[in-house]
Amino acid sequence: MQSAIRFHPPSYDIRVETIPTPRISDPDDAIVKVKYAGLCGSDLHAYRGHEIVDQVHTCGHEFIGEIVELGSAFGKAIDGRAPLYSTLKVGDKVVSPFTTNCGECAFCRAGVTCRCIHSKLFGCPALEGAQAQYVRVPKAGGTLYSLSDPALSQKYSSWANISDSSLLFLGDILPTGLFAALQAIHHPKLQATLSGIPWPLHMDTSPSVRTESPKDITLTFAIVGLGPVGLCAMIALADQASLKGFKLRIVGVDLNEARRQKAERVYATVCQTEGYTDAGISFVTYDGEAAKSAVSEYTEGAGCDAVLEIVGHDSALNLAYDLVRPFGVISSVGVHSERPFPLSGGNLYDKNVSMDFGRCPARAMLPIALDLLVKRQDVFAGVGTDASLVDRIVGMGDAVEMYKLFDKGDIGKVLFQPWE
Ligand SMILES: [Zn+2]
Ligand SMILES: [Zn+2]
Repeated sequence: MQSAIRFHPPSYDIRVETIPTPRISDPDDAIVKVKYAGLCGSDLHAYRGHEIVDQVHTCGHEFIGEIVELGSAFGKAIDGRAPLYSTLKVGDKVVSPFTTNCGECAFCRAGVTCRCIHSKLFGCPALEGAQAQYVRVPKAGGTLYSLSDPALSQKYSSWANISDSSLLFLGDILPTGLFAALQAIHHPKLQATLSGIPWPLHMDTSPSVRTESPKDITLTFAIVGLGPVGLCAMIALADQASLKGFKLRIVGVDLNEARRQKAERVYATVCQTEGYTDAGISFVTYDGEAAKSAVSEYTEGAGCDAVLEIVGHDSALNLAYDLVRPFGVISSVGVHSERPFPLSGGNLYDKNVSMDFGRCPARAMLPIALDLLVKRQDVFAGVGTDASLVDRIVGMGDAVEMYKLFDKGDIGKVLFQPWE
């Protein structure tokens, strides 16, 4: 038997219960002994009763842990199978994306692992979650990422010092924030601005008109929602602007003042070591309405080149639409479960706005998210400090209280340590 944090429908009912330890039920399964399991904003959708969930289940979709049992598909090198089926061993340290993915279907091979034909979300009636002592991982050879791979200590000289609590971010919040950022920066709509060549000549194979040098261009991006994913998006945006050499003004928007202050401290910490100010990269925060006038002032009334919408609520999407400029981009990773959709075809037509929605392909993003995680241990490794993303690491006995505090926005990222 094991302890697990369980959700009882319809809403606001979390219990720590003793339930059977999961077993291998398919040759592709692995059983992971959980070291840390995250409490995430999307756990609140079921908790608040916003999602129709009619079954008691174990919560949580973010975890890091150790392999304790493998199905019979492991230990064999078979052509066409995901590589971990031949290399993963009992005792290996692993992290998992928040959804399962086989690593073998057409979607997985194309890198859009969130749309795997075998995809299941941990922590819902379809698949028991990870806020427990053990979790069963289906399609584990495709889903899991091995942190015991010797190539990692060769690639990263600081590998032995990377904190385990920070590695948990690879399961969801860091790939998702990075995905929101990259999806916007690489969007075709922004390539004219980034190249300094006006639309549509930037698509010409031998463009003859360059109005500005790319290094003289300042882009303005907004992030709507400064929870942990929004912070990861902010860190990713500043990093990308610095690597690619363009100037970037980032406007962070959140109604919660404590979150805005945390975001500013996190930015100040990463800024210290990176010389962002000299590179023309900046970060300011506002609540909703003030952001509109600030963006208007910064951009001579034009609006943001891109808005990252992290919240998944109608009001956040409406604000993103108000903030974005014509021919701009909205990159949305929030879970929108409300109906009907708050924007009309006319809204989109009137601004030539492009909108990208949907779940992050976390497993495919994981290796590049790891680069950023290793680089930014200054903010990712801390626990309970001014500029750390994790507020508290607690035992499962505190689960009921942590869900309450997290729901009210009175606490930031919480990790459960199921063996404490
Ligand atoms: Zn999550
Ligand atoms: Zn697949």
